[in-house]
Amino acid sequence: MTLSSNACEHEAAMADTVFGKIIRGEIPCHRIYEDARVLAFLDINPLSAGHMLVIPKEAAATLDALSDESAAALGRVLPRLCRAVIAATGVREYNVLENNGKGAHQEIPHVHFHIIPKPNAREGLGVGWPIGAFDHPAGAALAARIAAAIG
Ligand code: AMP
Repeated sequence: MTLSSNACEHEAAMADTVFGKIIRGEIPCHRIYEDARVLAFLDINPLSAGHMLVIPKEAAATLDALSDESAAALGRVLPRLCRAVIAATGVREYNVLENNGKGAHQEIPHVHFHIIPKPNAREGLGVGWPIGAFDHPAGAALAARIAAAIG
């Protein structure tokens, strides 16, 4: 499938990832949605039917490196895409996942949100959730440090 050119194409051209190639139309995808800043398409190794990836056209490797403009564009469309996959699959439960860095299971260094329908216990995302103890004084100090670091 050849994707249309757009205002953000030059940014995608900077990143030589498989997603940059998809944005540039150099390799095909099963496209679901496209606007000037965002592209959504089916994941080629789905955890369930309807598993899709929603990516910015901006070539940012991780979410912390993404511009406010691309973040806003993604935020605007994510709920619409969730509603669309619910309507198309009839599956009302789903996970939205965004990995950052190899250690956090990110394979492709281009920001991507997974939308993964959860039709039953066997299909969809399985999540390990190793909770730790919460220390309130340490938590208060950490919350304050993070708050002070907001740019
Ligand atoms: P992550 O582990 O969060 O980096 O996820 C990367 C995802 O990209 C995986 O779920 C892959 O199946 C998916 N993927 C890799 N190559 C392609 C491709 N050419 N088309 C669609 N999805 C892809």
